[in-house]
Amino acid sequence: MTDILIVEDEDRIRMALEDDLTLEGYAVTGERDGTRALERARGSSFDLIILDLMLPGLDGLEICKRLRAEGDLTPILMLTAKSQEVDKVLGLELGADDYVTKPFSPRELLARIKALLRRHRPATDSPTSASFGDVEIDFKGYTVTKAGAPVELTAREFDLLRFLLSHPGEVLDRGSILEEVWGDDWDIFPRTIDTHVVHLRRKLEDEPATPRFIVNVRGVGYKFVPDPP
Ligand code: CA
Repeated sequence: MTDILIVEDEDRIRMALEDDLTLEGYAVTGERDGTRALERARGSSFDLIILDLMLPGLDGLEICKRLRAEGDLTPILMLTAKSQEVDKVLGLELGADDYVTKPFSPRELLARIKALLRRHRPATDSPTSASFGDVEIDFKGYTVTKAGAPVELTAREFDLLRFLLSHPGEVLDRGSILEEVWGDDWDIFPRTIDTHVVHLRRKLEDEPATPRFIVNVRGVGYKFVPDPP
C-alpha cells in the first residue's frame, strides 16, 4: 500500500483530495495543522507528502526545510496559490520535488503524484550501495560520503547519481536522463541536467573542472566511468 500524507488546512480541498486518492487505492492520512503534520511525517514513513504552502502552525516551506535538514527525502509535492510565485521557487530550492498551482484538476494532480512515486521507487535490480574514488553511496539509506565525510545531495541529484551509476561505462543521452530522472515533468530544459551534473561534480569529484567519474560525452550526454578493476 502506498501511504500519502495530505497537509492542507482548507477542509474542502483536503477532503476532496482524500476521496480522490482513496479511490485510486492509496492509503491517505489528512492533516490540517503544520506543526502536527511535521510530527506525523517524522513519526511514520510516508511514500509521498502533499504539502500546502500556507498552513496554520508551521507553513509548508518550513516543514519541507526541516524534513530535508533531518535527511528525510520523502517526495514532497507542494500546493501553491497563483500569487505565490516567489514562495513557489523557494519551495523547490528547499527540497520540494514538484509543485501544483491551485486551482488544479484532480487528473493533473494524480498524474504528478504517479510520476513522483515512479521516480522514487527504487528499481528492483538496482544495487543497494556503490562506491567510486573515495565516495561511498548507500542507496537504501540515501546517504553519501566522500572521504568519510557526509555529502548532502538533493533528491534529484541522488536520483541522477543512481541512474548514472546503474549504467557504468555507458553513454546516457539527455533524453534518457530526462525521462528516467525527471519523468513527466514538462517544465524541464536540457540545461537542467547540466546544472545538476555540475552540482554533483562539485560535491563528489576531487577536481570538478576535470572530472574523472562523471564525464561529458560531447553532443550526446554523460557517462559514469567506474574505478579501474
Ligand atoms: Ca492553506
